[in-house]
Amino acid sequence: MKIVRDPEEMQSLAGSWRGQGLRIGFVPTMGYLHRGHTSLMEQARPLCERLVVSIFVNPLQFNEASDLDSYPRDLEGDAAKCEAAGVDILFIPEGFYPEGFSTRVVVRGLTERLEGAYRPGHFDGVTTVVARLFGLIQPSVTVFGEKDYQQLAVVRKMSRDLGLPLEVLGGTLIRDPDGLAMSSRNVRLSPEQRARALSLHRALFAMREHGSSEVAELLEVGRALLDVDALDYLEVVDAETLQPLSRVDRPARAVVAGHLGRTRLIDNVGLEPRG
Ligand code: AMP
Repeated sequence: MKIVRDPEEMQSLAGSWRGQGLRIGFVPTMGYLHRGHTSLMEQARPLCERLVVSIFVNPLQFNEASDLDSYPRDLEGDAAKCEAAGVDILFIPEGFYPEGFSTRVVVRGLTERLEGAYRPGHFDGVTTVVARLFGLIQPSVTVFGEKDYQQLAVVRKMSRDLGLPLEVLGGTLIRDPDGLAMSSRNVRLSPEQRARALSLHRALFAMREHGSSEVAELLEVGRALLDVDALDYLEVVDAETLQPLSRVDRPARAVVAGHLGRTRLIDNVGLEPRG
């Protein structure tokens, strides 16, 4: 595995692979890798001949300076995990936004609600960084986790709207054995906060197991189980459009975001229509 830091070198390597007819797979991350990330690499690996993983804590997508400053980092451990997952290039860009970079990529419609409502500017930062990464690497296939369900939908929409010649795949949400959705931010939780964080997935799974299709009833079931310091949202939305539903009469997603102390966590689960 080669570590590349210079964006121009990344671009020219990827260009030479494409020139040889090699299919490039790409998994973007912010590092501090866990099994959620490596599962995306394992999904991409058989679908491509060259696999690129990026680690870049993108300042544009952080709406809180303290979240950016305290974002966990472990480049050595990350490199070992990528190597074990059969990654060809680990791209850890330096000078990712060149002097004078002035472009923003904005997807409207899917970005205003849920995460977008609580993290102003977040998705513009995501689509801008992802568009530049796609431009440099020009992958044939990319994998984004369903952990960030709205992000996956937004990246799919951007790629479709811009006619980008790549396939955007979703990877299953990976959980710790006790059910907590794996996240690089979990490391910041105290043992007491981590115990209460389990209420996020318990609420979502209780909603999924509940007999009713009435969303008002499902939300009551979920809210009764949540034990977070502050709830940003608990909603049932259309799995495609992410618009709120009043009945689960089509494929849906229960989505939640809440705070444990200074750590904000998100989770989601699929709900199928009944009957
Ligand atoms: P991040 O490093 O948090 O930006 O995440 C990089 C990619 O890994 C994104 O596509 C995430 O959705 C995905 N990811 C993060 N956590 C998980 C998880 N627990 N299960 C599956 N994918 C994940």
